Amino acid sequence: MNANNNEATALLGESRLVGCSSDEEPGAKTMIFSQNEIPTQLVSNGSTDFRKRFFPLTTIDSWNDWKWQLRNSITTIDELKKIMKLSEKEIMAINNLKGRLPLRVTPFFASLIYNTGFSNPLRRNVIPVVEELLHTASEQPDPLHEKSFSPVKGIVHRYPDRVLFTVTQVCSNYCRYCTRSHSVGRLDRLGKQDFEKAFSYIAAHREIRDVLVSGGDPLTLSDEVLDYILFNIRQIEHVEIIRIGTRVPVVLPQRITDKLLSVLRKYHPLFISLHFSHPAEITPECVKACTMLADNGFPLGSQTVLLKGINDNITVMKELMHKLLKIRVRPYYLYQCDL
Ligand code: SF4
Repeated sequence: MNANNNEATALLGESRLVGCSSDEEPGAKTMIFSQNEIPTQLVSNGSTDFRKRFFPLTTIDSWNDWKWQLRNSITTIDELKKIMKLSEKEIMAINNLKGRLPLRVTPFFASLIYNTGFSNPLRRNVIPVVEELLHTASEQPDPLHEKSFSPVKGIVHRYPDRVLFTVTQVCSNYCRYCTRSHSVGRLDRLGKQDFEKAFSYIAAHREIRDVLVSGGDPLTLSDEVLDYILFNIRQIEHVEIIRIGTRVPVVLPQRITDKLLSVLRKYHPLFISLHFSHPAEITPECVKACTMLADNGFPLGSQTVLLKGINDNITVMKELMHKLLKIRVRPYYLYQCDL
């Protein structure tokens, strides 16, 4: 693809488009947005077709509203069947999810997979298959034993100088390989008292210099709640670094708004830890979201889980790493799946 063969439609501004077709040489041809050239509205051609077909009454403004995307997420087999043909294995898996990691796909991410084959890597990230229901003797519900390192609700304190702060159990998409599938997707919210106890715990432990705000996905919370959380962490003098772990630039890029950035900017040094699985996730919308984050001074890193049939080959992994660097996301971790 080249700049004249636009993959996306940018509205209210001239398009400065990003190519990420899978037939590129690894790392080649991916364009980036220059500063001050980020289109205010951006919808890929594939997403436009999807919106017109399945959400014909939805305006582009609504489509680009992250709350609309969350409200209209696909969470049931009936909703999913309306937009895509499912395999027997997928149907059986979805029908047996009760008590397990739920199904959830944003309309945006659905637009990337609705017309794909059963082995498509993006589809396999979010559509359950029946193998997920099998549990071998060596698998554990909480493979990192986080519950035993949790002194107060929401805090995991495994390493002396840092804590994991799971501020929500909600994500906009549920990844089928999630290491926290024992807790993510459950209706177990932190109340104000839980937050206060967590802040007090961090404040009482002077050895903690690094707080990783994670979940679930913290960026599914409102700007006001994020402001409250980050403000209270920043009040603690010995906390030097705050990190946010999120997948929204990939699955809900509409969430990266100017208003969110104005909240986050108040709490530098703030690192954003992203999560990518495949180069096809680097859509124009995702590039726009990462560009906005990078332009606002947030160091971006990516963690990737090694996944069979999705990214366990050198060509795919190399393409992913090269493309991440081109959008100013530094590949940071490559994980082997937890058991
Ligand atoms: S976004 Fe992260 S926490 Fe949420 S389901 Fe995916 S891997 Fe799990």
